[in-house]
Amino acid sequence: MTGEVTDADLISLPKAHLHLHLTGGMRHATLIDLADRAGVQLPPRLVDDDPDTWQILGWPRFQRLYDGARGVLRTPEDFQRLIYEMAEDERAAGSRWLELQIAPTGYAVRLGDVVTATEVFCSAAAAAETATGVGVRLIIAANRTRPPWEAELLARIAVRFAAHGVVGFGLSNDERRGIPEEFAKAFRIARDGGLAAMPHAGELLGADSVARTIAALAPARIGHGVRAAEDADVMASLAERGIACEVCPASNVALGVAAGLAAVPIRTLEAAGVPVVLAADDPLLFGSGLVDQYRAARDDLGYTRADLARLARASATHSTMPADVAAAMLADIDGWERG
Ligand SMILES: [Zn+2]
Repeated sequence: MTGEVTDADLISLPKAHLHLHLTGGMRHATLIDLADRAGVQLPPRLVDDDPDTWQILGWPRFQRLYDGARGVLRTPEDFQRLIYEMAEDERAAGSRWLELQIAPTGYAVRLGDVVTATEVFCSAAAAAETATGVGVRLIIAANRTRPPWEAELLARIAVRFAAHGVVGFGLSNDERRGIPEEFAKAFRIARDGGLAAMPHAGELLGADSVARTIAALAPARIGHGVRAAEDADVMASLAERGIACEVCPASNVALGVAAGLAAVPIRTLEAAGVPVVLAADDPLLFGSGLVDQYRAARDDLGYTRADLARLARASATHSTMPADVAAAMLADIDGWERG
């Protein structure tokens, strides 16, 4: 039976979530609760969770709101709660594996320093995994608006935590600032230390930013990368190297990268042989979780059961999950596809 895919099927499809940010994955109720406790006054947009008021954000407004939400996270217990709830939400969405992206410099001032902050995140991830059964691993991300030396320091710290749940090294924040070449040394340190390179590119900037990121940072995956669809040669380069794009449809629409969900170029990328994995990026701000991205593929792109199974398979094979965990998940996706 390979007919209609119901909403329940979208949840039961086994998947991995490979592009989710720490603050951006907070439950709205937790944001409100923590803000009350910390005595933080939130911007009105963050208090109101009525989806009808959500509009295209644009990057500067998005960044202001993200920073506002981040301000409620104060203590190690706040981070433990947050990461535990994220893992619970993954399990409820049928996700078995989460690679959570964290830029520790944005939180270090609350927790002491970057090393202490990373310790807090690693221990929270391990506790969340034990409690929920969802594998939780961390991608430590450098902030591209900060100087490259800071990224190099962060890469050395990330490598020290490679045995404690850190699997990747990322590069986030406003893509229009900080050219990829400046961060080549940081990414070399991370790769030499056994971490996978997972920078953002090709979201706010075009296909050329993806080409330069491939050349400079040797990524295993690209955060977003959707604008690679503007250039056949760049897509061929991703396909040849087996570099997956972490496509986040709701995020693309909210930030004005795509005119609507149907315009997110997932079909174009897949037709060119580029592996695509679906992710939610920042559900707190975009009002759209992991299952919603699969729903968009079904409803706005006309993706079939086989197509959705292919996307879920890619999320397993392009994750850092151990081979036995991936094999079990792939077998279960086969079962799901048979219906
Ligand atoms: Zn992102």
